[in-house]
Amino acid sequence: MELESFTRAKVFGQPFLPTDFKLMVFFIQTSFWIYVEQIKGWVNYQYLESYSCPWGYLALARDVVIVYLVLGYLSRLFTSIRGYGVYKSLCMFFKKVNRQVFLTLLSLPPMNKKVEKELESVLAKIEEEIMQNNDDLLQFPQLPAKGITTERVLTELDNLQNLKHSDWINGKVSGAVYHGGKSLLDLQSEAYHKYSVANQLHPDVFPGVRKMEAEVVSMVLKIFNAPETGCGSTTSGGTESLLLTGLAARQYGKTYRGITQPEVIAPVTVHAGIEKACFYFGMKLHKVDLDPKTYQVDIKKVERLINKNTVLLVGSAPNYPHGIIDDIEALSKLALKNKILLHVDACLGSFIVSFLEKSGVHDKGAIPLFDFRLPGVTSISCDTHKYGFAPKGSSIIMYRNSKIRECQYYVLSDWTGGMYGSPTLAGSRPGALMVGCWATLVNIGEEGYTKSCRDIVRTSMKLKYAIQGNEILSKYLEVIGNPIGSVVSFKVRDNVNDFSIYALGDLLGKKGWHFASLQNPAALHFALTRLTIPIIDELIGDIIESTEHLVEENEKHGDNKKKDVGDTAALYGVAGSVTTSGVADKVIVAFLDTLYKI
Ligand SMILES: *Cc1c(COP(=O)(O)O)cnc(C)c1O
Repeated sequence: MELESFTRAKVFGQPFLPTDFKLMVFFIQTSFWIYVEQIKGWVNYQYLESYSCPWGYLALARDVVIVYLVLGYLSRLFTSIRGYGVYKSLCMFFKKVNRQVFLTLLSLPPMNKKVEKELESVLAKIEEEIMQNNDDLLQFPQLPAKGITTERVLTELDNLQNLKHSDWINGKVSGAVYHGGKSLLDLQSEAYHKYSVANQLHPDVFPGVRKMEAEVVSMVLKIFNAPETGCGSTTSGGTESLLLTGLAARQYGKTYRGITQPEVIAPVTVHAGIEKACFYFGMKLHKVDLDPKTYQVDIKKVERLINKNTVLLVGSAPNYPHGIIDDIEALSKLALKNKILLHVDACLGSFIVSFLEKSGVHDKGAIPLFDFRLPGVTSISCDTHKYGFAPKGSSIIMYRNSKIRECQYYVLSDWTGGMYGSPTLAGSRPGALMVGCWATLVNIGEEGYTKSCRDIVRTSMKLKYAIQGNEILSKYLEVIGNPIGSVVSFKVRDNVNDFSIYALGDLLGKKGWHFASLQNPAALHFALTRLTIPIIDELIGDIIESTEHLVEENEKHGDNKKKDVGDTAALYGVAGSVTTSGVADKVIVAFLDTLYKI
């Protein structure tokens, strides 16, 4: 049975032939008249004779190409149906067509004008929010002719820090700053100060930095129960770790399995960094739905999508949106059975998920395996700059063995500039940041991380149980899945339809809380940090108060979902609708442009 399904996966792999729609249309168009003649011939049972005209050989060659292309399309269709089923394949196809149609419509003059106008007003709001500036600040659209004094630079840095911003210091922001303690910050600044010239590109100049980097990787590998062969490297952050695991999987598939059209299978909840890896490195990404009960990736659907071009499976421990750990054990079995690499994204889980067992917050049975103890797991990413409390710009990518790690290396032996090699995406790397990470890890130690895990998770469980147990909250809200770590997200109950979760988020925003907004389904998420621990009761109280307020408003004025749509709801309304999803893309581009406006 197992063997059979594996063979089937091999045979009905991805398109075994390349497809080229334009080429096919070109052939059909340019030789339309020949077809007319041929069809006349076929009707009279003169099939072969129809090729015996002076153009016969050309016509035959053309038909061979067309049959080849049509077969390519059929195999693609077949693969899609095998992976997604008929219904979902049709839905995906129509969604694609729909989007294209609406994008075209939106670019036509009358609609175009309207979209531009809408965009302008959104843009004005974005600019107002993020382009903080004032007349008291020095302005540098270009380099000052003469440098300003050190004292002036330092006071200006203070002035810039005092611009209006979300206040993380009081713990009201989801994620962002994970530790925030003064003595740790002092240690990290001192470490940076001592090593600000260090560059990991030059281990001969900075041997101490090399030793520290090797130790950081080794320490984190032990935390994730890597085997003796385990290895890894430090990176600039979770996204770089995910890019590298994607690159390594692509190269591994190419080198050891001859795969030239690589595909990745990941849950819809996977971090954007995996999509970015597929975008950068030319891989096709299959995004798999969740099990509606557990909110973990649907394992059966993952299995159906595996084919001979699959180079990587991905699961999260836990994922960013919902804080839910996928069934990594089942993914590990699938990976072993099909001989595919499996990456576990523990960027967010970091030193929370890996310390859960030691922390004793949950019963042992309630904590699933997710690390290298599962034999199918071939790589894990862990952000030391999240719950490892290291300075920003620090993450670890780990592999089961060096054969896989080698696939992320860049090697250039015949460069005019000398023999060159670099382990990660960057060339020069800021050694000082890595030193800050090392200093943090050895300063906090196993005991410290166990305690912070215990304190943070106890607090997030308090939030989870409050939403599930409080009378008014449990009537309107629902925790998504069963989070056991530091992230809790919640949505409006399915049987409630006059309550907007985004309106709740906006209301909490007015009280200073900074929740992250999610979509599909609309929900709010909070990643608890050490700074949230002392104010958890205030957080729960404010959620209750805001929910009561919205319910009262509804009773007075009717449905708040339709009436007076808040900014967040409006934005996600735009993003969620097929007819306007193209506009949402433009909003994001405008936002990114704004980052560089002076
Ligand atoms: C934060 C995060 C990442 C990586 O994000 P960076 O901002 O690049 O550090 C990856 N995966 C998950 C689940 C995350 O939460």
